[in-house]
Amino acid sequence: METQSQAVVDKLRAAFRSGVTLPEQFRRSQLTQLMSMIKDNEEQILEALHKDLAKPKFEAVLSEVDIVINDLHYALANLKSWMQPEYVSKNLATKFDDCFVRREPLGVVLIIGAWNYPLHLVLLPMIGAIAAGNCVVLKPSEVSPATDRVVAELVPKYLSQECYAVVSGGAEETKALLRNRFDHIFYTGSQSVARSILQTAAVHLTPVTLELGGKCPCVIYGQVDVAAAARRLIWSKFFNAGQSCVAPDYVLCSPATRDALLPAVKKSLEDFYGKEPQASPDFSRIVSDRHWTRLVELLKKTSGRIVVEGESNQKDKYIAPTVVVDVSEDDILMKEEIFGPILPILTIDSLEQGIDFINQREKPLALYVFSNESSVVNTVLENTSSGGFCSNDGILHMTLPGLPFGGVGASGWGSYHGRWGFETFTHRRAVMLRGWALERLNGLRYPPYADDRLSW
Ligand code: NAD
Repeated sequence: METQSQAVVDKLRAAFRSGVTLPEQFRRSQLTQLMSMIKDNEEQILEALHKDLAKPKFEAVLSEVDIVINDLHYALANLKSWMQPEYVSKNLATKFDDCFVRREPLGVVLIIGAWNYPLHLVLLPMIGAIAAGNCVVLKPSEVSPATDRVVAELVPKYLSQECYAVVSGGAEETKALLRNRFDHIFYTGSQSVARSILQTAAVHLTPVTLELGGKCPCVIYGQVDVAAAARRLIWSKFFNAGQSCVAPDYVLCSPATRDALLPAVKKSLEDFYGKEPQASPDFSRIVSDRHWTRLVELLKKTSGRIVVEGESNQKDKYIAPTVVVDVSEDDILMKEEIFGPILPILTIDSLEQGIDFINQREKPLALYVFSNESSVVNTVLENTSSGGFCSNDGILHMTLPGLPFGGVGASGWGSYHGRWGFETFTHRRAVMLRGWALERLNGLRYPPYADDRLSW
């Protein structure tokens, strides 16, 4: 296993050393090929996503296909300017020199993806890595095997096999792969696996980007259009059956807002998925038996009051959209990221209490505030920290390639999307090209140092 992956990495390293990935034209052609790969095979890709998670076509196109295509367009439109040297201001001693930041690829990089957006989470970082001129090993998640197979089949058909490779497998294969020296590791997944990735990366002092998760709060406070808030909350929570790293994990609101919100939440659920969500083609399934059991156990153990529930069906890996109220701070639902179709609603007596609640926990990947009052939105924005922030909606901030996507602290290190992906896979080399002019001026810095030199 290890020698196999070593052969792959060695081949890519030889290609990187040959300089083939450096010209803009090469990067451009590979990005264009990646675009063709997705467009030519969209049906096959959507089928695989349906097999893995029963993703509704609309959600799959929006969150797996289009998000990658948009980032490709953005990269192709901006690549030339991203690659330009960035000249910096100079001082008297360097007045006649060329001083600039040169953006260089890192080398051979490893991208490890998670299962919830199994296409997007490997291809979107890959755009930044290709644009920056790297060779890339992709390791899609084995938990979404159909998409893993499609990626492994299509990438070698469309992209240079000398420069890009896909390695499939689970934890053991990934550990074997990680024993190789990489120039960067880009990991998307859970916090617990991230810790072991960091330990392995420490052996070679390999820099790491971590795209992790956590519990994303949604504060609903003050004056608010309850019907619209419910629609946006329910859409972003139950998109992909709640299996989104940026899904609102729980709601914080006053008891009065909760009471007004609940009928609107029930109405939105029925409007979106009908009376029997299991029969709706627009509601995804849980990815695996393990995750299905984990979520059902949470529902068995919560001491909260379940106000919206439905059937759970193991064979179909189905869990109905579920809403729980009267959830205490130390309830099992508040221990870890839920990552499924269960929405706890907790009450707060004041906005300050909500802000304290958030600040007492790890910094989340995303933080949402729903309110008609801009003072409420600004108070939360200014007094908290999170990877991303969006007011009066969920998830949408991650669709803009101009905004960096990533966490802070325990929700992740580093960012990508658009230029941020290019920068993640780039070394910013400080370059000073000096000539031989004005050597007499240099006399000022050579010893023996006269006492009055520093007064210059
Ligand atoms: P997962 O089980 O698919 O694991 C992620 C990757 O790690 C896989 O490729 C897997 O093969 C590999 N892996 C698993 N165990 C390993 C080990 N012991 N050593 C090395 N590699 C190993 O996905 P997951 O971890 O269940 O992912 C869910 C988590 O990912 C959630 O916390 C979610 O919030 C987070 N997530 C974050 C983002 C983001 O962009 N920040 C996106 C999606 C998911």
